[in-house]
Amino acid sequence: MSPILIDPTTFISTIILVGVLVVSFVLSQEIKRRKQSEIQRQMAEKALQESESRYRLVVETQSDFILHSLPDTTIVFANPSICQALGFSLTEIIGKKWSDFANPEDLQRDVFKGLSELTPESPTFIAENRDSRVDGQIGWTQWINRGIFNKIGQLVEIQSVGRDITALKQVEMALRQNEERLQLVTENMSDLVCLHQLDGQYLYVTPSCQSLLGYSPTELLGQDPYHWVHPEDQAQFRQASNWLTLTKNAVPVTYRMRKKTGDYIWLETLTKPIFDTEGKIIHLQMTSRDVSAQIKVEQQLRHDAFYDALTGLPNRHMLIERLNQIIKRVKRSPALKIAVLFLDLDHFKVINDSLGHLIGDQLLMAVAHKLNTCIREIDLAVRLGGDEFVIVLEEVSSIGDVVYIAERILRELQSPIQLHDRDIFITTSIGIVWVTSNHHQAEDLIRDADLAMYQAKSQGRGCYAIFNSTMHLQALQRLNLENDLRKALENQEFVLYYQPIVSLKTFLLQGFEALIRWEHPQRGLLTPNQFISVAEETGLIIPLGRWVFQQACQQLATWQQGISTAKNLKLSINLSAQQLQDPQLLNQLIQIIQTTGIQGENLILEITESMLIENVETTRELLAQIQLRGIQVSIDDFGKGYSSLSYLHQLSVNGLKIDRAFIHKIEQADKNYTLVDIIISLSNLLGLYTVAEGIETSQQLEWLQKRQCEFGQGFLFSKPVPSELAEKFLNYCDQRLDSLFKTQ
Ligand code: C2E
Ligand code: CA
Ligand code: CA
Repeated sequence: MSPILIDPTTFISTIILVGVLVVSFVLSQEIKRRKQSEIQRQMAEKALQESESRYRLVVETQSDFILHSLPDTTIVFANPSICQALGFSLTEIIGKKWSDFANPEDLQRDVFKGLSELTPESPTFIAENRDSRVDGQIGWTQWINRGIFNKIGQLVEIQSVGRDITALKQVEMALRQNEERLQLVTENMSDLVCLHQLDGQYLYVTPSCQSLLGYSPTELLGQDPYHWVHPEDQAQFRQASNWLTLTKNAVPVTYRMRKKTGDYIWLETLTKPIFDTEGKIIHLQMTSRDVSAQIKVEQQLRHDAFYDALTGLPNRHMLIERLNQIIKRVKRSPALKIAVLFLDLDHFKVINDSLGHLIGDQLLMAVAHKLNTCIREIDLAVRLGGDEFVIVLEEVSSIGDVVYIAERILRELQSPIQLHDRDIFITTSIGIVWVTSNHHQAEDLIRDADLAMYQAKSQGRGCYAIFNSTMHLQALQRLNLENDLRKALENQEFVLYYQPIVSLKTFLLQGFEALIRWEHPQRGLLTPNQFISVAEETGLIIPLGRWVFQQACQQLATWQQGISTAKNLKLSINLSAQQLQDPQLLNQLIQIIQTTGIQGENLILEITESMLIENVETTRELLAQIQLRGIQVSIDDFGKGYSSLSYLHQLSVNGLKIDRAFIHKIEQADKNYTLVDIIISLSNLLGLYTVAEGIETSQQLEWLQKRQCEFGQGFLFSKPVPSELAEKFLNYCDQRLDSLFKTQ
């Protein structure tokens, strides 16, 4: 092969060409790269510009506050939101420090303390501070401050984002205030409010448990309240707090709860269920109130309502309740034997009036005590009122048992009661009634026992009587009588009869005793014994007595107008005790005397001894006033009652009327007739006139004449007669009446 020879020029020019080609390639590559990087730069710049404008938009439209500050808190940037909130323009804010806007108090609290603690590792801190807002209000802002550090760890800027938390703070504050208030209320309320588990365990207890029960709340937590509830009240407490039966309208339960001291307190508790969101009961809330004071008052009132304040014995209300229960029991089992005893002290009024109410009260207390000792636990002793007591004897086997107890009570009460160094003797009358199925209400029993007691009284007191149906009949009759009596006055059914009073020496008519009669439309002529006591008990005796007085005086005036001998006639009128107590009596007497035109000297008022004993002072005064008008006063039924001759001295009376019981005994050779002797002598000695009442036989008359008894009255001369017949006697007034009467 032949070597290839290369022309040097060609070679060089080839080399140059290659070189140019390489350089131009490299250059073109470079230009391309540069172009590309220019494009990239332009794109980045555009992106940055876009990002910046977006950021600006975000910052400017942000409702949050944005601040950029230097490390010394000089503000270099603020967004419109904060400018708006604070009411400053941007230029007013830029260059100022945080402290220029912050609340001085917050500065004192050093709310920006976190600033000095910022590090690159822990570059943020949160601060809440107040600032004055454009509207003059105080605003709250929560700042999240982020520190920006340079490469060598120096703080170069602080970027802060603030959120207006004013509304939040206000809610928080309101909550706190509410909480404080709630705490104040729970700490100071006297009621006890507790939250319980369904099984009763305490979950929460208000502090008031300390003052109410003596326990601190922690002592109760986890415990069961039943532990402290009074054993007698546990059943009803359990029932009221049973969550299974609780309703919205739960009623409060009142029960006793033991305090730490061991005493019991009365609580009134209302239990309410607490529901979860699904309506399931999860807890119980109990609100309890101390009602001890209220219960005490109620108990006292109940006690007062059922017990007698003086003796401490149960009273009428309690008796009625007990008797009504007994009546039901007896209706169910008629074989039950229960007795009711009605007790009334004899002459208690005399003791009360003579020894005073204090002694009277003490006597009643002593009697109550004695009664309690005579009965068994199952029996009941009651004070009905005044001097009336009732005893209920349960489960007695026979009437013999009851009589035995009644006699024991009589004996026990008869033994003297010592009061103020004085022995007081008292007797009692007892009425006994068996409870039968015929009794329908308590009042029936009391009424029957009362009737029997009256029977005992009329049998001479200090004894007992057992109720029988006749008593009931009598009582009914009495009731009818009472009703009739009221009508009788209006219907003018009363008349006066006149019984002559005769001189035993001359047999001349001295006067009449006016005696009332009732012309009953159905029952015919009734004598005073049949109705005067009822008139006295009902108070009707006052108008009736006035009528008698008016009628008698009127009659006398009529007689005096027609018959000359009637001028010196003495008319005796009976007065009841109640009339003597009537303050109107004197005026009425005066008025009637004036209107009828008779003389006081023509009148004699007959009163009984017992009437004199009551209210001696006022009676003496009244009698003196009466006598001033010329009216005479005579003591009726003398010797029958108290026979306290001393009163004859004290009270000026004009005459004595010897009770007819003594006159009747004259011929029976009874030694009492010597008493008549004494009365006549005494009467003569005191210058009083004497009338012997109830002379029926000539022997009695003779005997009295021998004893110089001045006047006489009795069937021997005449029974009480109607006014027409009395007038007939008057016409023969100057004749001896013994002959006259024989013509009757
Ligand atoms: P007194 O005041 O003792 O009246 C006498 C009573 O004895 C009268 O009964 C009379 O009928 C009765 N009597 C008179 N003589 C005899 C006799 O020889 N034998 C018997 N066995 N009895 C005789 P009378 O009229 O039934 O009156 C009874 C009582 O009623 C009176 O007793 C008097 O206490 C009272 N009384 C009568 N009228 C009135 C009156 O107007 N007012 C008041 N407050 N009481 C009156
Ligand atoms: Ca009389
Ligand atoms: Ca009499």
